[in-house]
Amino acid sequence: MSDKVKVTAMAGDGIGPEVMGVTKRILAAAGANIEWEDAEAGARVFKRGIATGVPPETLDSIARTGLALKGPLETPVGYGEKSANVTLRKYFELYGNIRPVRELPGIKTPFSGRGIDMVIVRENVEDLYAGIEYMQTAGVAECLKIITEPGSERILRLAFALTRAEGRKSLACSTKANIMKITEGLMKRVFERISPEYSDITPSHLIIDNCAHQLVIAPEQFDVIVCTNMNGDIISDLAAGLVGGLGVAPSSNLGDHAAMFEAVHGSAPQIAGKNLANPTAFLLSAVMLLRHIGDFKAAEIIEQAIYVTLEERKNLTGDIAPKGTGVGTDAYEHQIIANFGRDSSMASRQYAPLKLPEWPRVTWHHEPKTREFVGVDLFIESALSPGALGESLLQLTANSAFRLGSIANRGAQVWPVSAAETYVVDHFVCRFMVEKAGVDENTAITDLITRVGGTHRWMHVEKLQRFDGKDGFAKSAGES
Ligand code: NAD
Repeated sequence: MSDKVKVTAMAGDGIGPEVMGVTKRILAAAGANIEWEDAEAGARVFKRGIATGVPPETLDSIARTGLALKGPLETPVGYGEKSANVTLRKYFELYGNIRPVRELPGIKTPFSGRGIDMVIVRENVEDLYAGIEYMQTAGVAECLKIITEPGSERILRLAFALTRAEGRKSLACSTKANIMKITEGLMKRVFERISPEYSDITPSHLIIDNCAHQLVIAPEQFDVIVCTNMNGDIISDLAAGLVGGLGVAPSSNLGDHAAMFEAVHGSAPQIAGKNLANPTAFLLSAVMLLRHIGDFKAAEIIEQAIYVTLEERKNLTGDIAPKGTGVGTDAYEHQIIANFGRDSSMASRQYAPLKLPEWPRVTWHHEPKTREFVGVDLFIESALSPGALGESLLQLTANSAFRLGSIANRGAQVWPVSAAETYVVDHFVCRFMVEKAGVDENTAITDLITRVGGTHRWMHVEKLQRFDGKDGFAKSAGES
């Protein structure tokens, strides 16, 4: 039996097969201990009628190997709406997106010389990307932002583990907890709860907009940054731009049972098959894969050869070469292999194996010590003025288990009092508070909906609860 590590290779679309070819040859030349299992995903698979873009054989291969190197995947227009990338991420619960951002020798940017060397850790499966979206009225859309305690804890623990494995010293958790106190605040609270367990790492928290600002003003201050999905999506691309853009940005997607490595860029269809593709980002992703499987030697040989090649600015692909000196993908590949064994001016970091915390495969449940039912937010579509709607609801719910407390429109209170300038649309969140403690909540809610629903169109009911004595709901702007 071969002692080689099996890795699923998905060349993907556009320039994918070219950069995959280069990468396999360079890894083989560096003595990487890998046996590839080639697998399909992307445009051709969609065109065969597989709506996810990933055939079962590919899923089986990744489930078997637990490791994948993936080229860019396209979702051809008219062949299903799902992205093959999202399918893979969700299927294997690849919850940790790791984006190293390191200044590369020879790649000149406005930030060159600042010594940028950080990693952005992005939660990869929750948040607004859960895809829970609705039209609530014909003109009002809603997207639910789902942040969970275990989802936050596992990405934060992954970020702490990665900080340690890379010999780094500080971890910044960046959230929008000042505005989204409950969702973004959950990640911040979990960060504050677990950071004392990592006494060798300096924790800090900063608001995400300030993080974006700081990334441009003083990017060299950051070691590791961890974020929820959407914030991480944006700032990781911003950070990639600081060091040369998506063409040189590698990434990994980590989960408990699989890890997938890919360049950040897409399939660059305009240059596919023309020997013009720059394989650096893909190669650096393969270097991350080598470190993940513990082949630190091959990783360093390849990384240093890339750095030397970039530093000497000889035989580079057209997108990064000095004007008029660009060569083909193949010549760049040969130059990297020719530079094996040489050291660049930029040392490789010292990495230790990354130990991921494993999460038990059971439905996670947190039972609070106390739970109180305190009210209901009823979402109502109406063309009435806030005053008229309030009046109507008061009448309809007289002598019910609830008292109408407030009405909000797009998060601003519009009843019983309203700011003068609030623009009002046909989507009201009507807050009913329980009048008497101990009511049967199902009976009370059914009665409320029956009373209100006879006159008004409702579309959503949200329970207001208190967990362990704390409100589990936000107040609208203006609500006391
Ligand atoms: P893109 O990254 O493919 O291209 C953007 C620009 O960068 C183009 O000018 C392209 O020529 C250039 N470029 C990108 N990678 C390069 C490389 N390695 N060498 C030289 N030049 C490079 O982005 P796009 O045009 O928005 O997307 C094209 C396709 O790729 C779309 O179908 C998109 O859905 C898909 N895509 C896939 C992934 C993924 O699989 N992870 C990511 C992004 C886009």
